[in-house]
Amino acid sequence: AAHESPMSLERPISNLFYQTRLRRPTLARGEGVYLWDSEGKRYLDGSSGAMVSNIGHSNPAVLDAMRRQMELSTFGYRLHFENEPAERLATRIAGRMPEGLDRVFFVSGGSEAVESALKLARQYAVARGQAERWKVISRFPSYHGSTLGALAVTGMSLMSAPFAPMLREMPKIPAPTCYLDRDGLSLEERGLRYALMLREEILRQGPETCLAFIMEPVGGASTGALVAPDGYYAAIRAICDEFGLLLICDEVMSGAGRTGRYLASEHWNLRPDIVALSKGFGAGYAPLGAMVADRTIAETVIDHGGFVHGHTYAGNPLACAAGLAVLEEIDRLGLIEAAERQGAVLKARLEGLMAHFPFIGDVRGKGLLLAFELVADRETMAPLPPALNAHLRLVDIAYDAGLIIYSRRTRGGRVGDHFMVCPPLIVTDAQIDEIMAQLTSALESFAI
Ligand code: PMP
Repeated sequence: AAHESPMSLERPISNLFYQTRLRRPTLARGEGVYLWDSEGKRYLDGSSGAMVSNIGHSNPAVLDAMRRQMELSTFGYRLHFENEPAERLATRIAGRMPEGLDRVFFVSGGSEAVESALKLARQYAVARGQAERWKVISRFPSYHGSTLGALAVTGMSLMSAPFAPMLREMPKIPAPTCYLDRDGLSLEERGLRYALMLREEILRQGPETCLAFIMEPVGGASTGALVAPDGYYAAIRAICDEFGLLLICDEVMSGAGRTGRYLASEHWNLRPDIVALSKGFGAGYAPLGAMVADRTIAETVIDHGGFVHGHTYAGNPLACAAGLAVLEEIDRLGLIEAAERQGAVLKARLEGLMAHFPFIGDVRGKGLLLAFELVADRETMAPLPPALNAHLRLVDIAYDAGLIIYSRRTRGGRVGDHFMVCPPLIVTDAQIDEIMAQLTSALESFAI
């Protein structure tokens, strides 16, 4: 009877999703970049979960801060009380944002942060007497979240198809997958060509109906850490300004230092009007997200009857105390600089693999938001046949050997099998060696 724990069930009842592995091990504990299952097997968390655990597992300072907050209060409803952790966290976040982006709205995750951004943008247009503006243009492939609003701007048909009748599908332009193009243009020229597609789409839709453009400055799992050529970003900003669209940057994955800057948009001095944040801010310690808005936008909406949006658990003191401690640890340990430094080391090592494995077609990313892509032919960048299920097979081989990486085959888009190698920002040189040794042996036993 001692063995009759719920975990001995054939299939767990708590997780209905992603039945890719027949049976997943049960998580026992985590420390630093490592996780252990209940059998005592150790895994190197080479993807920080889903690019979440940026400061590693079981950080003592964060756990202490959470314990201290728990003793004081874990919840006070926001209509009844302000709370100090939320105000301190908001101040700290705003202090690192571009000038004027200092109104912070807390939520409990990435999808909620994107929803909040979409709804704030819409309310701003209404408040300014531009009620005809409602279309939020986005890119495909892209991932902005699983709730219906975020899904409407998500460019992954596999995820939105079942819900088509319930969604108000938004216009999409291709993500700047310049590395796939074989057109004789330079990368910069290609980047501008992709940016101009936004202009064309706005004109096709009618500029007076367009509200905003949303993108991930460095792509996440949908495109595998896609980075556009430098000129793309300034061109996108200029096109948004030309037609009065708000620019929403989804930095749910790329924010909080992962790319070697606090926000990925800083790499290009890109100033968004609204930013969605989440993963690296809670860093696995608390369900936490934030929408950070330009002061004028937020104040206009507030003066015009208030923001008609909110979630019960938003800004709860425990989640905010965790988030505050995470940001303090990021600064104390110099993890943004570490992301840039260790990211350059890891990226060079991944590029080195291309000499040994001809089926690696591309290595890309910024800081420690890195990915490689497998192809059938490096010259044409033709993808591997879907039936090979490369994205699942390679991950399984690595997993069995104790290395966790994150993969996706973005169907419906132009991108093939790609693999995110995104360890926590605390990763050491020795741990990078360990990742590379395990990855190399996984690639060797991965016969195409
Ligand atoms: N936006 C981006 C860029 C993401 O990567 C994710 C999560 N993968 C989301 C939004 C949604 O976040 P959540 O799963 O926390 O709702």
